Amino acid sequence: MILSLGTFPTPVAAPFREMPRLVVKHDDLTGELYGGNKLRKLEHLVGAATQAGAKRLVTLGAVGSHHVLATTLYGRREGFEVDAVLVSQPASAHAEDNVRVSLALGLRAHAAPAWALAPPLVASLLGRDAFFVPLGGSSAAGSLGFVAAARELAAQVRAGELAEPDVIVVASGSGGTVAGLAVGLELEGLRTRVIGVAVSDPVIVLRLMALRLARATSRAAGLDRRAAARASARITIEGRYLGRGYGWPTEEGARATPLAAAGGVALDPTYTAKAFACAADLVRADPRRNVVYWHTLGAKGALPRIPQGDVPARIRRLLSPTG
Ligand SMILES: *Cc1c(COP(=O)(O)O)cnc(C)c1O
Repeated sequence: MILSLGTFPTPVAAPFREMPRLVVKHDDLTGELYGGNKLRKLEHLVGAATQAGAKRLVTLGAVGSHHVLATTLYGRREGFEVDAVLVSQPASAHAEDNVRVSLALGLRAHAAPAWALAPPLVASLLGRDAFFVPLGGSSAAGSLGFVAAARELAAQVRAGELAEPDVIVVASGSGGTVAGLAVGLELEGLRTRVIGVAVSDPVIVLRLMALRLARATSRAAGLDRRAAARASARITIEGRYLGRGYGWPTEEGARATPLAAAGGVALDPTYTAKAFACAADLVRADPRRNVVYWHTLGAKGALPRIPQGDVPARIRRLLSPTG
């Protein structure tokens, strides 16, 4: 069962005068209250939970996770209780805002003092009424949302809204987005390759996760073995923009931020600044290349937030100092 949670197709635009072949795919606009890439996955994941007759969603992520925020918003809307095990990440205004919104939406947050303690905590929350949503919403089911997204882009190419891309550049944290895109592009027979800009570490683990998910998603989408191999071969995980690790800002990202803002694209330091920096470098290296920068950051406008001081201390402590 697939729920309809978002507004599709999301627009494409080429807003940069100096980089006319750089096209932005606006997945910030997948949802009215809060968009971003997780919504595409949740149409499938919350759909599966509904079909299974579950009452609760159990997930995990970093304290400022968009995935936890999106799961809370759309899960609660569909009538689920939402429990999430949260782990530490470097403090930033963005991460703090995400956790304040998640709590205001009714998230039941459980602090894990270390990543190694997250799995047993998750296990303790599971039960017959619960549906487990994996890290980042990345499972074959979640990635099917991005198979559909690639097909949506292919329809926009056929309609003449953009040229057939040589490459799609997108932030990659748990591998589900790149895996789904690669499978969808293979189904559509486009020549487009996918560069996942690593925002989480270790990069080698992310690469393995992305390839494993591409195989599982290929199976779920009905590709045969050779087509599945071609889908996987489209994926490159680029590790050069990561910096110190997940949640740590980089200089390249900081330089990319005003550049993107000039085209009306608001970046965050954890994911999209790193991806956009890579996309802009590719265009500079070869201005004739058709590059799609897939903008995965949900705009969160009128969402409620609990006041800063009301974030419980055990959760606030997960925002670790960067100084
Ligand atoms: C989660 C997220 C990603 C990464 O998506 P994965 O499918 O986990 O690789 C990229 N950008 C933003 C803004 C995200 O929240």
